[in-house]
Amino acid sequence: MPDYSPLETMIRKQIAASGPMPVSRYMQLCLTHPDYGYYLKRDPLGRGGDFITAPEVSQMFGELVGLWAASVWNAMGMPHEVKFIELGPGRGTMMADALRAVRILPAFHEAISVHLVEASPTLREKQREKLAEAAYVEWYDSIDDVPEGPAIILANEFFDAMPIHQAVKQDGGWHERTIEIDDDILAYGIAKDPIPRFEVLLPPVVRAAPNGAIFEWRPDNEIMTIARRLRDQGGAALIIDYGHLRSDAGDTFQAVAKHAFANPLKNAGLADVTAHVDFQALSRAAEDVGARAHGPVEQGAFLNRLGIENRAQALMKGATEDGQKLITAGLARLTGPSPEGMGSLFKVLGVSHPSIETLAALSDHMPGVRA
Ligand code: SAH
Repeated sequence: MPDYSPLETMIRKQIAASGPMPVSRYMQLCLTHPDYGYYLKRDPLGRGGDFITAPEVSQMFGELVGLWAASVWNAMGMPHEVKFIELGPGRGTMMADALRAVRILPAFHEAISVHLVEASPTLREKQREKLAEAAYVEWYDSIDDVPEGPAIILANEFFDAMPIHQAVKQDGGWHERTIEIDDDILAYGIAKDPIPRFEVLLPPVVRAAPNGAIFEWRPDNEIMTIARRLRDQGGAALIIDYGHLRSDAGDTFQAVAKHAFANPLKNAGLADVTAHVDFQALSRAAEDVGARAHGPVEQGAFLNRLGIENRAQALMKGATEDGQKLITAGLARLTGPSPEGMGSLFKVLGVSHPSIETLAALSDHMPGVRA
């Protein structure tokens, strides 16, 4: 008897009963199935886990995000109450670092209430511990549940965990890519009929792709909910993730386990499965509903404009020799080039109420605030 993960056993039963499933359904089950989903029962972050995110690399990341938020609060006209919303807060590290950094601005600090959208009970518990000192913290299953009001919304490595659809170009059009059972292993397949009127929705560069090309997309509902909320109730969002500035063809569906890439069709529910974020699609969707998009810019440029060098220098002064090495390494990891650095692979997009014309560090014409 082969040894499948419990989720793979379930997926095999579903495919045997109802036929191949779209990649998006497979990805959704892998990440958030209530019993076997990857995120639901474990803390995947950190050295002992599967991957490390920017806030876990260095406290500087969350601190600068906090100062960015303060500049947004200024641009919003310094409201007495502002909802600080984070989507997928992981261990709560970025929020904790941001809140600590903005203590130097008491009027902003006191205006903040914290609202966390988190699917994982395990990570909710970590966030509760990390944010024990915050005056007001509440948790939600979806951004739709967060009460109304002006908001500053943060999402770091959240969108890459939203399920993607994939389509494969064939002679007669684009067909949904599926997961099926082939020779008793999970394998990719192609739906028999093309997706109706799919091509007209595609950017010209994708339309011109050769047969066999793959195009990935995410449903727009999450970004549209954010954009509508900002349009109607004021504020801005900061979306940070790995991905591309322009929509293009390509297969980026991947699994990450123990800090290495793995086959996403193996060990369902036991490895993180993700795909690159299409920032052009996000900003277009946000502008379609009447919000304003800012950027995207590369993470390295964003952090440099916010003054990460100065922050590193300041932290160095009080640090031991080992501490100084960690700060230097953290700075290089956050802002440096691939493959070790996150500076160019990761992109930063702002979305705001249309009356906010510029957001700090996100315009190519503006130097941004200095830490
Ligand atoms: N932002 C954090 C964690 C990134 S990992 C950091 O940078 O360290 C992705 C996060 O999104 C986790 O907290 C995960 O539990 C959460 N998540 C994934 N899918 C989700 C969903 N559909 N709804 C709510 N949270 C989700």
